[in-house]
Amino acid sequence: MTGKADNTDITGIMDTAPSGNEKTIEKFDRHVMHSYGRFPIAMKQGSGRSCTDESGREYIDLGSGIGTNSLGYCDEKWADAVCSQVRTLQHNSNYYYTEVQAQFAERLSEMTGCRNMFFCNSGAEANECAIKLARKYSFDKYGEGRNIIITLVNSFHGRTMATLAATGQDTFHNYFFPFPGGFEYTPANDIPALEAKLRELDGRVCAVMMEYIQGEGGVNPLSQDFVDAVFSLCGEKDILVITDEVQTGVGRTGRFLAGEWFGHRADIVTLAKGIAGGLPMGVCLSGEKCSGVFTPGTHGSTFGGNPVSCAGGLAVLDRVASEGFLDSVTAKGQLIRDMLSSCSEVVSVSGIGLMIGIELKTKKAAEVARTALDRGLLVLTAKEKVRLLPPLTITENELRRGIEILIDILEG
Ligand SMILES: *Cc1c(COP(=O)(O)O)cnc(C)c1O
Repeated sequence: MTGKADNTDITGIMDTAPSGNEKTIEKFDRHVMHSYGRFPIAMKQGSGRSCTDESGREYIDLGSGIGTNSLGYCDEKWADAVCSQVRTLQHNSNYYYTEVQAQFAERLSEMTGCRNMFFCNSGAEANECAIKLARKYSFDKYGEGRNIIITLVNSFHGRTMATLAATGQDTFHNYFFPFPGGFEYTPANDIPALEAKLRELDGRVCAVMMEYIQGEGGVNPLSQDFVDAVFSLCGEKDILVITDEVQTGVGRTGRFLAGEWFGHRADIVTLAKGIAGGLPMGVCLSGEKCSGVFTPGTHGSTFGGNPVSCAGGLAVLDRVASEGFLDSVTAKGQLIRDMLSSCSEVVSVSGIGLMIGIELKTKKAAEVARTALDRGLLVLTAKEKVRLLPPLTITENELRRGIEILIDILEG
């Protein structure tokens, strides 16, 4: 449900909370700002791939907290690593070094081929970092005036002022004026439009930023031709390519980075969501080009690279790198597609691996998500599609159960 400018489509369709959830909801709504269209359910506890609300109702989770709980709920090895770190050193200033951050960085570097990284706490912050890095790279090398970042129409890059400006959807460009300048938009998968944009802005562009599969925008993958064109056009002019893999990264698509499917290595890659298994972490990674751009004092974060998040992140990387893990993500993605292929309500299924968008014939995605709650199933939406981001560790049996419920709702 993030990524919606306003969640009017779900507000009001489930007015009454299942009994047992009311007390928390009432207290919550009295004190917490109403910036989300929340379902009237208070989650109490999770285990494996299911969670339970305060009334005791259990839900199979095909959303994993919007792709964050990559190992499901309270995975034992992950929880052990996190708890042990909490009892050892929970935090220290980034003016000192910590071993767990060094280990995590080394591991992430091996798995991505990116030598350098900056740690922060969210996807938006990782993208802020990428924007600053690209602009300073260009400033250091070419001086002022080459600062525009081209992003794609229908993209989503976060909720801070700069990442809202980077987000290529008009509904996000309201209320909060003035937005930072220096962002231009071009339609996804339209090579002539990109060429025209680069010609129009010749000498003023420092980077192109894109999601390989637009997540919040409706699970829309870029075409291979378009991605090839971005890398070749940018390469010619020393324009950096930033890939926002906040949603597609960390094994979600059956490769560690979705970029591996497309055969390109970006200059800057951002990760967050699933990277630490449900703890806050964002990472901005870069290759050689940007390795010397940030000097002491040019960027920072109090909590960035927090040891507890790093310990959780290491447990995630261990699992994702384990024998056969990524292939199992691909196989489970295929299982979902196979099951949905016989459902009469499904028009098309988009995405790669366990990142799935389901286009519906007649039903409204928001209503499907709401009905699913009554049936003990959590699903997400993205624009008018039902979106699935199951925990990467989900078993085939759990997946079958969940998809059977979903198909039943769709055909009901
Ligand atoms: C979720 C998301 C973000 C924002 O991440 P936050 O952690 O909510 O700041 C940015 N980019 C993409 C592609 C995302 O899916």
